[in-house]
Amino acid sequence: MKLGIVGLPNVGKSTLFNAITQAGAESANYPFCTIEPNVGVVSVPDYRLNILRDMYNPEKLIPAIVEFYDIAGLVRGASKGEGLGNKFLSHIREVSAIIHVVRCFEDSNITHVDGDVNPIRDIETINLELILSDLESIEKRIQKTEKLAKSDKSLVQELDLLHKIKNVLEEGKSIRFLDLSEEEVKLVSSFNLLSNKPVIYVGNVSEEDIQDLGASNAYVRKLKDFAEEENSEVVVICAKIEAEISELDDEEKGLFLEELGLKESGLDRLIKASYSLLGLISYITAGPKEVRAWTIRKGTKAPQAAGKIHTDFEKGFIRAETVSFDDLNNLGSVVAAKEKGLVRLEGKEYIVKDGDVILFRFNV
Ligand code: GDP
Repeated sequence: MKLGIVGLPNVGKSTLFNAITQAGAESANYPFCTIEPNVGVVSVPDYRLNILRDMYNPEKLIPAIVEFYDIAGLVRGASKGEGLGNKFLSHIREVSAIIHVVRCFEDSNITHVDGDVNPIRDIETINLELILSDLESIEKRIQKTEKLAKSDKSLVQELDLLHKIKNVLEEGKSIRFLDLSEEEVKLVSSFNLLSNKPVIYVGNVSEEDIQDLGASNAYVRKLKDFAEEENSEVVVICAKIEAEISELDDEEKGLFLEELGLKESGLDRLIKASYSLLGLISYITAGPKEVRAWTIRKGTKAPQAAGKIHTDFEKGFIRAETVSFDDLNNLGSVVAAKEKGLVRLEGKEYIVKDGDVILFRFNV
């Protein structure tokens, strides 16, 4: 899963991004990830892995990961090509979701590029760049489709949709605002437009306001209303505290959060929200060599889930020996689960569930 961090200057992006790289996953486990200065790789929090570690004593424990891309250069005028604008816009095209950091803290020592704190105006400034870029793509697509539609009547519907999108963009709204049919959603996704990407708005609040997760912060309330209208999510964090947490080990982290009256770090909440926004779940493979979590979309069938591990697993798929994490945890071992008949032999049509512990059988 790739997430792109955007936001106006001085809202706390670097503070959050530095916390992410500091908290970073053990890179030795992820040789396939490109570790570049603008990429931070973190593990997806999953309590089940620790329990399975105690059960299997594996040589390696490998959580699922999220890659965060710092797209700090997306500024006002980007769609006009200002400040390498187009390059940053193209980075957004590659991510699965946008993490839009918004300033919700007051601090007279930290100037705001537009004078005062105003989350909705800030969001609209950045979103406008995405909207303008989409408008340009849509206009080109309309021209092309109009020509083709003259001889191919099946394109009339697509043309209608393109105009519907153009209208909403011209109102200065993101495509996310549109209520579309399932079919239209599929078609629009294939256009890979920027203002159609799922978004999580991260409200960056002060150290005091994080204690009730921003419930008493008026900016956060406005942010939540705005997000609801366009079907986006809000996660409230304090970037400064995230930076402090990222320097602690697990035990210290727990104590520190407890002192603040918090259950989880903002980063962990952000990762979970992204998973749920994108409809992602994890399944697990477990053995003496490694216990490992794999990310898939909800609704993925067993062979495609196996394909995440290796394409040969998908091609030669025979069956998935599957036990739910809960059953495994209750009984303490796969042997015990087998005795109770709780290890199922699932075939090609099986839809993998969150927390399934799977052993794939396949032909080579
Ligand atoms: P960026 O330009 O969006 O990357 O913003 P930075 O991360 O550089 O933050 C801008 C300034 O705001 C820095 O001086 C940070 O220390 C400060 N800052 C960031 N997050 C917080 C926060 O949660 N509370 C307060 N009071 N200051 C913050």
